[in-house]
Amino acid sequence: MKACILGATGLVGQRFIQRLNDHQWFEIAALTGSERSAGVKFGDAVNWRMDTELKPEVGELTVQPTSPKHVDADVVFSALPAEEAQKVEEDFAREGFVVVSNASAHRMEPDVPLMNPEANFTHLSLIDEQRRKRKWDGAIVTNPNCTTAVLTLSLKPIAASFGLRNVVISSMQAASGAGYPGVASLDIIDNVIPFINGEEEKLQKETQKILGDAGRPAAFNVSASCHRVPVIDGHTEAVFVQTEKPASPDQVARCMQEFTAEPQKLKLPTAPLRPVVVRTERDRPQPRFDRNEGDGMTVVVGRIRDDPVFSGVKYVAMGHNTIRGAAGCAILIAESMKSQGYL
Ligand code: NAP
Repeated sequence: MKACILGATGLVGQRFIQRLNDHQWFEIAALTGSERSAGVKFGDAVNWRMDTELKPEVGELTVQPTSPKHVDADVVFSALPAEEAQKVEEDFAREGFVVVSNASAHRMEPDVPLMNPEANFTHLSLIDEQRRKRKWDGAIVTNPNCTTAVLTLSLKPIAASFGLRNVVISSMQAASGAGYPGVASLDIIDNVIPFINGEEEKLQKETQKILGDAGRPAAFNVSASCHRVPVIDGHTEAVFVQTEKPASPDQVARCMQEFTAEPQKLKLPTAPLRPVVVRTERDRPQPRFDRNEGDGMTVVVGRIRDDPVFSGVKYVAMGHNTIRGAAGCAILIAESMKSQGYL
């Protein structure tokens, strides 16, 4: 199937290119950018920041303007800034394209699936409602904010086994989460920035939408505090959970370790063998050692222990923000859609 990447020159766009290079089902057919790069060869327009080589045939592609009339594709991956995504993604869907988006613009619209496939595969059914309501043949499906993707994957097994009442999370987020060039080096080296615009609100609302039923957000409370730290890739999260039914640290570790979902059952090409891996060392997970677990698609959890305030559990979760938290999640969504006949 032909794949197009909107905003291909950015950090998430580059991650899409890297992960689609040898994909079993999708082949890169078109790349778009802003006026700055449209008309230029991709290899000349991009400041390639991935740790693998850019394939010469991809570097030779001419960057197209970001508009449906310049694109021929079966699936469109969007790595646009939210302000651009709002209208552009609707234009594509109206023209019959299926858009899988990283941008926040449409995430909270009730008829738009917000998907982390292992956590809420059944939300794909919202596409039928969206097509009926908006009278278009295309679709917009979104993946979560990077921090939410890591959190919801770690929470899903707990929610399924014990139910959730209250969740408190404090994040330590990598610099690449702000795109390229992102946060100025003089602001982030030797520092922690205790504010990321809009992040806490996204984390709270998106978590409830993902872990609820399709069209009905979950009722548990989420309180978030988000911080930018001098790490290149990999968001770390300290999570404190009050469950509905009593849960010991051992029981939580077991339900996370044993957790698999539809992407694993269907053996989708980029589904990790294990969505959540539990480490037992006292000083793991760490971004430098654990961010590439499951080819960047696995969330690594450690330090599961009793929480005396909540009478629940607390733990540390870590995941790759531009893979599970962005491009990798969007590709797994597209694979999920194909498996259910939506592509
Ligand atoms: P980025 O590095 O700043 O890249 C932005 C991309 O959008 C570039 O390709 C840029 O093209 C293009 N663009 C900018 N203005 C445009 C316009 N007016 N028309 C068309 N294209 C335009 O950002 P990023 O980190 O890749 O993030 C992309 C999206 O994914 C954002 O919505 C972000 O919130 C979301 N996201 C990011 C992460 C992460 O960890 N970084 C995680 C989850 C979600 P030119 O180079 O041609 O100007």
